[in-house]
Amino acid sequence: MSAPIALSGAAELLRLPPDAESAERLPQSRAGELTLEPGDVVVSDEGLIAGFEADSSCRRVDCAGLSVLPGLVDCHTHLPFVGWRAQEYARRVAGEPYEAIARSGGGIRASARALADAADTQVLDQARALAAEMLRHGTTAFEAKSGYGLSVAGELRALRLAGELAAGVEQPVAVTALLAHAIPDGHTAAGWMDEVEGMLGAVCAHTRAQALDIFVESVAFSNDELTRMGALAREHGLALRAHVEQLSSYGSVPVAVAAGARSVDHLSCMPAADIPALVGTECAAVLLPGAEFIGAEHTPPARELADAGVVCALATDLNPGTSPIVSLPLIAGLAVRRYGWTVKEALLALTLNAAWVIGRSRELGALTVGRRADVLLLDCPAGHIPYRFGHNPVAAVLVAGVPVWVREDHRWRFEGSA
Ligand SMILES: [Zn+2]
Repeated sequence: MSAPIALSGAAELLRLPPDAESAERLPQSRAGELTLEPGDVVVSDEGLIAGFEADSSCRRVDCAGLSVLPGLVDCHTHLPFVGWRAQEYARRVAGEPYEAIARSGGGIRASARALADAADTQVLDQARALAAEMLRHGTTAFEAKSGYGLSVAGELRALRLAGELAAGVEQPVAVTALLAHAIPDGHTAAGWMDEVEGMLGAVCAHTRAQALDIFVESVAFSNDELTRMGALAREHGLALRAHVEQLSSYGSVPVAVAAGARSVDHLSCMPAADIPALVGTECAAVLLPGAEFIGAEHTPPARELADAGVVCALATDLNPGTSPIVSLPLIAGLAVRRYGWTVKEALLALTLNAAWVIGRSRELGALTVGRRADVLLLDCPAGHIPYRFGHNPVAAVLVAGVPVWVREDHRWRFEGSA
């Protein structure tokens, strides 16, 4: 027999402002209205948030001294991939620019060769292990992308592997078809886009892809292809994501908004003059401070984006080259330090707004009645997440109300709840 679970007596619960409980995203300027008050969370048998007052019918999980947060959502990763590129990192630390490494066969092409040479099981074993590590750091939903296929067959295989990853991990996975990542050998940018157009029928019919994505950069694609990708996304009922303004500025943000983008990602070189193009739109600014840190990139106009009320999200950009980072608490620490953001700004960007980016914010991303009970128990106040930089504060993770990971020193809390 089962009974509702009450996560009882938490020192802090992260909740949305009362008038925004059904919101699917919030302007970053409202982050200060999130609350961190003591309380309980009741989880129904169906694994949904049922309320905030425990009664005697509940099985209690003692949360004294803990913070209780919605699960974190990693809305930009490049899983599944295989291998790592540590030697490139050593070259970059010594001063070689990414563009030079990419032009000499490194970068995305190096990961594409590794993927092509690897068996499916090798790719999936590495990706599943990373998903488990992400879970232990509080990531209860994430995005997976293709992009290391660099041929029609390779991209379809990468999307199939992303689907198999999704079927084999605890977290819900949103699959994105990053079909314009690097220009495959023997193609022009426009010629490759013809191939992309030709493969979309198969992408929609045979894969879980819900979004298209493109990398706009000197070593990749241009704003023209971004506009074309937006038209293809609309035609096929897919969302549009875009890697823009990372290493240099092409004025791509207004182009992406006009193309109907769900998100613009990176933005290290985005001019502040382009911020008004995002204000009042559904297009989120996805900031990736781990990639900025590893790549010694410029800092995006993150404070200005937040103050202007843009929908902001944070993510790891987990990939084998430019951001080999799995921990969203670490990303929160980087964002707070680099952007001058508050803890609540970082948390809004890692929960509701990140869920918006992957199209799941009606059911994920906040502790509200009826949303799925993806919940974290933290061993410290939320304010310690960025400050204790590198500490993993996650003591337990519930996915759909089920404790899927509990740290050894907190098991007693669950043993007493039977
Ligand atoms: Zn990326």
